[in-house]
Amino acid sequence: MDSHSNKETVQATNDDASANKLSCVKKGYMKDDYVHLFVRRPVRRSPIINRGYFAHWAALRKLLNQFLDAGGNGGEKGHLKKQILSLGAGFDTTYFQLQDEGRAPYLYVELDFKEVTSKKATLIETCSHLRDKISATTSISRESGEVLSDHYKLLPVDLRDIPKLDNVIALAGMNPSLPTFIIAECVLIYLDPDSSRSIVRWTAKAFSTAIHPDDAFGQQMIRNLEAVCSWAYMIHQHYKQRKNLFVDQGWQRAVAWDMLKVYSDFVEAQERRRIERLELFDEFEEWHMMQASHLFIYFVKGNRIVRTFYGKS
Ligand code: SAM
Repeated sequence: MDSHSNKETVQATNDDASANKLSCVKKGYMKDDYVHLFVRRPVRRSPIINRGYFAHWAALRKLLNQFLDAGGNGGEKGHLKKQILSLGAGFDTTYFQLQDEGRAPYLYVELDFKEVTSKKATLIETCSHLRDKISATTSISRESGEVLSDHYKLLPVDLRDIPKLDNVIALAGMNPSLPTFIIAECVLIYLDPDSSRSIVRWTAKAFSTAIHPDDAFGQQMIRNLEAVCSWAYMIHQHYKQRKNLFVDQGWQRAVAWDMLKVYSDFVEAQERRRIERLELFDEFEEWHMMQASHLFIYFVKGNRIVRTFYGKS
C-alpha cells in the first residue's frame, strides 16, 4: 500500500463503504440520519449487498451496545467511563448516532489518513447537523484534519506508523486504563500482514492495564467465548490463523463467526423477518456462498473487546 495511487485506492474504499450504508438506509434496513451527508453520489446496491451490509452492521452494533450498556454508561454509574477507538474510521457516523440515542461514551476517537480526516473535519465544520452533536468548545482544523472536542476526537495518522499511534491517543486524551472498544471495520484487510500484526500488538500493549474482573460484560463475553471458540475451530481452517494473529500479539481470546452464522444467530429473528420483506431477494445460492466466506471476528482482553475484521476470509 505504499505507492501514492494505492493509498488513494484504499482511501476511496471509504466512499464505497458510505455508499453501501446509504443504500441500506434508503431501503429501510437501518436508520442513520447522517450517512447521506457524506455521500456525494448515492447508488442503489443489489439486495444481496444490502442484506450483507445490514448483517455486519447489526452484529457490530449489538456488540457495541452490549459494551456500552454493561455496568451503566451514564448517570450514576457513568464514572465507569468507556472509550471507543475507531481505526480507519472513514466517514463512519456511529458517534453521531450514539449521541442521538443518548448512549455516546465518555470519549470517542476516530483515526484515518489525513486526506480522509480533512474531508470529514470539513463536513463536520460546515454541516450544522453534525456540528450540533459535538460540544460548542470544539476546535476544528480542516488543514490538519483534526476535530478536538470534549467527547469526540478525529485525528489523522497513518496506522502503519506505530510510534506515532502512542502520541495520537495521548493527544486524544485516551486513558489506557479505561474499558475500551476498538473498531477496525473493513480496515486491516487493506494493510500488509506485518502492519496488521504491528497494529494488533500495539493495541494489546497500549490498552494493557485495565482489567475489570467484576465487569459483568467482560465475564459474560469470556464465558460465551468458550462455547463459540470451539465451534469456530471446527468450521474454519483459516480461523486459527486469524485468531493467532491476535492471540499471539497479546489479546487473550478470539471469536470468529462466518456471516451466515451472524445472520442466523446474532441478528434478532424479528429483525430478520422485517428486513427480508424489504425487497425481492432470489440470490440464495450467491448469498450463501458470499456470507460463508466472510468472517466477523472479535477479540477480548480483560473486559475490552476489539472487533477487528470483516472481509473475505
Ligand atoms: N471503517 C469505516 C467504515 O466501515 O465505514 C471505513 C472503512 S473503509 C473500507 C477503510 C478505511 O481505512 C478508509 O477510510 C481508509 O482511509 C482507512 N485506512 C486504510 N489504511 C489506513 C492506514 N494505513 N492508516 C489510516 N487509515 C487507513
